[in-house]
Amino acid sequence: MRWTGGHSNPLDWWLNLGVSPQDPPDLRLKKVVMTLVSTGIATLAIFWGILYIATGYPLSGAIPLGYSVVSFASILHFFRSKQFDLFCFSQQLLILILPFALMWSLGGFANGSVVMIWAFFAPLAALFFLDLEAARRWFIAFIALLIVSAILDSWLQGLARPMPTTLNTLYFLMNMGMGFILISLVLYYFVKDRNKAYRELEQTQEHIHHMMMTDPLTGMPNRRHLEQRFNEELDRKQRYGEPLSVLMTDVDFFKTINDRYGHAVGDEVLKAFAKTLQGGLRSSDFLARYGGEEFIVLLPASDLDAARNLAERLRKTVKSTPIEGYDIQLTSSFGVAEVQTGESPEQAISRADKAMYNAKHEGRDQVSSKDDSAHI
Ligand code: GH3
Ligand code: MG
Ligand code: MG
Repeated sequence: MRWTGGHSNPLDWWLNLGVSPQDPPDLRLKKVVMTLVSTGIATLAIFWGILYIATGYPLSGAIPLGYSVVSFASILHFFRSKQFDLFCFSQQLLILILPFALMWSLGGFANGSVVMIWAFFAPLAALFFLDLEAARRWFIAFIALLIVSAILDSWLQGLARPMPTTLNTLYFLMNMGMGFILISLVLYYFVKDRNKAYRELEQTQEHIHHMMMTDPLTGMPNRRHLEQRFNEELDRKQRYGEPLSVLMTDVDFFKTINDRYGHAVGDEVLKAFAKTLQGGLRSSDFLARYGGEEFIVLLPASDLDAARNLAERLRKTVKSTPIEGYDIQLTSSFGVAEVQTGESPEQAISRADKAMYNAKHEGRDQVSSKDDSAHI
């Protein structure tokens, strides 16, 4: 839809609140908030102006009415020109100056029913639409106008016709109420926007964390994740005195598979191998891809015997599980080691590695827990 054609209906502009289909979500939100708030204030200003005139303060009534005309003109200009920055600036300037002008026309603080509270919208909007620095500048401008008001106050009180107390109280409550609503509205959108940004950031962080910890080929935890988990399991072992074992496995003659069928098939075989291993584990066991076609399993609450039994079971499963779509008979060798008290993850893994080497040396397709380096 085009808004700039001149023949489109102004109502459409309002219904779209100045938002273009190609605007990013955060800009959309800002446009919606700024257009709604400006339209809201400009509409209310008419009511305010009429009220002042009706209660006998025509000059003070002319100010909100004049404000309303200029504000609507600025909104229309935004819809036609699409200059959002200019629109924001002019609205903030209008809302900063005009409540003060109105207050001065009524005779300063005493008679002015703190209409200047509306001007607080300017620094708040700057915070929402720009940044903290801009908010600070608008806030300083607000304070400057407040000081000017204080200086003018006694002189203004002499000039203006005093307002009856009941009327003044009524205006005071109305202005406080409206100021409160406007500020709440902006803060509501500001907090909502910020919370959304936090959620997105959290999701991105989770995604990055997951990518850092996962092997892209098999989708299994990678070496970095293994390191972290190993330390956690060591802590647990120390605290509860439960055994902890580590198992290393490596596909037998994997190079031959790559050579014969190609690297892509090798990849598929690796994925299938990881899946088969995972299928044979308890949920508390932790499988990770350690390197090329080597995988490590951490086995909490398992001593060497239990680890050997599990490795034997996995070995048989791997051997009896056909690789879907290929005529490949996979076998694998296993090395197991029980983590000793005071041993580091690297030391335990190194012993499992030696045991696996032993299994290879003894003819492959078997489990070993011999971690002496006799064959290496
Ligand atoms: P062994 O029985 O002694 O283990 O013999 P092997 O042929 O399996 O020898 P080794 O374990 O040293 O071979 C590892 C091979 O795995 C070498 C490398 O090309 C291959 N490889 C490593 N990572 C990948 C991968 O991500 N995809 C594929 N397709 N091959 C890989
Ligand atoms: Mg191998
Ligand atoms: Mg290998």
